[in-house]
Formats: sequence, structure tokens, C-alpha cells
Amino acid sequence: MVESHTTETQTDLLSQLVKVRTWSSETKSGDLGECDAIAEDSPIIPTITSTNDNCLSKECPSYEDCFVLKARRRALDSDVVVVNHHLFMADLAIKETGFGELIPEADVFIFDEAHQIPDIASQYFGQSISSRQIQDLCKDIEIGYRTEARDMRQLQKAGERLSQAAMDMRIVLGDTGFRGNWRDAIASPSIKREMERLTDALEFVIDVLKLALGRSQLLDTAFERANLVKGRIERVCDVTITGYSYWYDTSPRHFSLHITPLTVADKFHEQVEMKGGAWIFTSATLAVSDDFGHFTSRLGLVPKQQFSLPSPFDYPSQARLCVPRYLPEPNSNGLADKLVRMLTPVIEQNQGRCFFLCTSHSMMRELGEKFRETLSLPVLLQGETSKQKTLAEFMELGNALLVATGAFWEGIDVRGDTLSCVIIDKLPFTAPDDPLLKARIEDCKLQGGDPFQQVQIPDAVITLKQGVGR
Ligand code: SF4
Repeated sequence: MVESHTTETQTDLLSQLVKVRTWSSETKSGDLGECDAIAEDSPIIPTITSTNDNCLSKECPSYEDCFVLKARRRALDSDVVVVNHHLFMADLAIKETGFGELIPEADVFIFDEAHQIPDIASQYFGQSISSRQIQDLCKDIEIGYRTEARDMRQLQKAGERLSQAAMDMRIVLGDTGFRGNWRDAIASPSIKREMERLTDALEFVIDVLKLALGRSQLLDTAFERANLVKGRIERVCDVTITGYSYWYDTSPRHFSLHITPLTVADKFHEQVEMKGGAWIFTSATLAVSDDFGHFTSRLGLVPKQQFSLPSPFDYPSQARLCVPRYLPEPNSNGLADKLVRMLTPVIEQNQGRCFFLCTSHSMMRELGEKFRETLSLPVLLQGETSKQKTLAEFMELGNALLVATGAFWEGIDVRGDTLSCVIIDKLPFTAPDDPLLKARIEDCKLQGGDPFQQVQIPDAVITLKQGVGR
């Protein structure tokens, strides 16, 4: 079911749904990254993605055709399994709860782009609950009521009350796109009151679902999910436990509450010991000034061996680093205009073949718009279609400027002359309000360290090296 506020968004979402439906009958892998018809941040994606929460597992009518299960079966039969970091960490987290196994045991674990692992591990070793999960639960209760328990009107009422409480909670959390300290937020009487209303509504849902147990698989699963949500809410509302960063974020219609461990070193180390075998971590950006300590200490690794190999590139004769002077301060008014004026001749002279990597989405959009007005060359903007398609288009055009952020800073390899100039809008320091960064800064301070030297500078060095490496 697709949420919508206007007929226009609804029509747009429906047309995207039709495209995904057509693609789903042709795809062999089920990997949405291969579906060119929708953008990588399309709002349709969460509505068509199965999660741990709502997967019906063996009761699912599509169980035999399920792409996830097919991939899992193939993985169990394989000698070599290639997965991304998120899936690997999700697997560790699932095993911690004793739920199941996605990835088979192995003798050797090799992580490329390993510099990303500490941040990704922090997400999976922490806990989160989002209003989207609550709204999805309410939708499934409504579907269960309409299709299998028409006589239980309380189901509908309980679901509606919970959905409303989640929306009210979203409103009371304020501005969209905000990340804040949850410990401070829950101390506010209005937020505390809405949280209590949400918890009451959830308890009512659990009571009603209990009465429906055994009537429908969907409602039985909803009962389990509601209990899981309750457990998570209790966990994130108990802000007295030390060693974690408590934070929340908001999008236009949703909010999420998170707890992130200040350090994952102990847990990750424990997993490495438990799984055994050889663990190899590689990346062009693991060391800062030939020191791997920044990386190994975050994961609690005690390496048997560590070394840097020289770059295969001849930087002195193949590369040039230019640092313009007299730029306005970062985030000051008029920065985008000035950058566009200053760099248009450079990009034209270079005949496109250029990445402009930004440190924020707003800067990316502003620059993209302005370059489209001034440049005679094609300008591509991240997010207008899938990442793979954007990249393919960039290569095919051969004279384009790609304005991008986040996902294009790393993990992209454009060979040959199609990309010969990388521009950045400023040094890539992580925004100081980033909760993961805040958690690490807190941890560093607790250990008597200097967060700027030991956390922020090494992080910026690694991101900068990644950006340059495109
Ligand atoms: S079993 Fe069904 S609900 Fe679960 S992931 Fe597969 S298709 Fe989706």
C-alpha cells in the first residue's frame, strides 16, 4: 500500500510501482540496484522492500520464488560468497539474537573498502526503531482485519490509534531532516507525554492482537512485531545506560530513535574470536601517515601482520592538486555562485570529464542547478536515476560533469580519461552533529584523547583520499 498526500505523488508512485512490477517479472536477481526505471532514493523503495519485521518466511505465498531465499541457498552451496558490508553486519547482528543465518561459515573473510566497517558495525551493534516500522505494522493490522478478521473491529481501531500516536510523535519532534540528542529530547515534557501515548497505544494493539492469535499468519506476525517494537522502544527510552549515544532523526513524515554503542571494538573483537579463521582487511585508505592504529583500534583488532603497498599510479607526473585562494567561508552565502563562476572555465577547458563531489545534498542540488544554467556541457546530478545508470551515462557521454555527494565519494572506479578532474566543495569533515561522530568523540574524550586529532582529522583524511581516488 502506498502512502500519499496528493494525487500527484500518488500517480507518480503508482507509475513507479508499475515499472518495478514489469522489471520484477524479468529480473533474475531481484536486486533493485539493477532497476534503472527508479531513482536510488525513490519513495517507492521502502514500500516494496521486505524487512526482517514483515517477512512472512515460510508462510509467504512467494516463498519458493523469493529472491532472498534463492540467494541464501546459492550462498550455502558456494565456495566463495561475495556480499556487501551491510549484509555481513546484518548477519552478525541476526546471529546475536539467535534468529537465523544468512551467510555460511567460512575459513577466510576478506573485506575490501574496509575503512567503512567501523561505522557500519556501529549501526548494526546498536538498535533503532522508526515510525515507518510502526506505520507498516498498523497497515498490516488493517489488512489482517479486512481480509481475515472482519469481526474484530477493535483491530482497526487499535491500529488507527497507534498510527495517529506515531504521527503525533513525529510532529512534536519538530523540523524535518533534524538529528538530535534523544536523552535531551525525552526530558522535555511534551515529548515525554507523546512517547507515553505512543507506548499506551502500542500496548493496546498488543492486547487486541493477542485476542486474534491463531486466526491469521499476518496478524500472528504482527503480534510478534508489536512486541519487538515495544522492546525496542523500552530500550531506547531507558536513557540511563552508559556507553551508548542516544539520538533521533526526522524525515518529512517519519522519525527514528537510535542507540549507538560508543565503541564497537569489544563486540567486533569478540565476533572475530568466535568465528575464527583468517580476517583480511584491505582498502586504499586504512592508514593515516602509514599508521593503521586509527582503524584497528576502532574494531578492537590485534593484527598479526599489517603493511601498505605503494600506489600503482605515478602521482607526481599524472596528477595535479589545485587549491584556490580567497574562497568564501564554507556554508556562507554565495559560495555556490562563486564556485560556479570560478570553475565553469576549468570544466569547459577540461571538456567535462569531471566529478564535483559535495559534502552536503543542499550544496549538490544548488551547484547542479547553477551549472546547468551556465555550462554548455551535459550536467548529471546524483539521485535523478540509479547510481549505476548515472555512472553508465557519465561514461557514455564522455564530456559530462557529474555533481554528486555521499555515494560517489568512494567505491566508484572510472577508468581511462572519461574522468580526469575531481573537484570538492570543501574538506570532507563529517558534520559535527552527526550522531555516530558525536558518539566517537564522546568515547575518545572518556579515554582522555583529543577527538579532533584522533577522530575528526583521520576521518577527513580518509574521505579526502577516497574522493581523490576516483
Ligand atoms: S519470504 Fe516472502 S516476504 Fe519474505 S522476503 Fe521473501 S518474498 Fe518477501
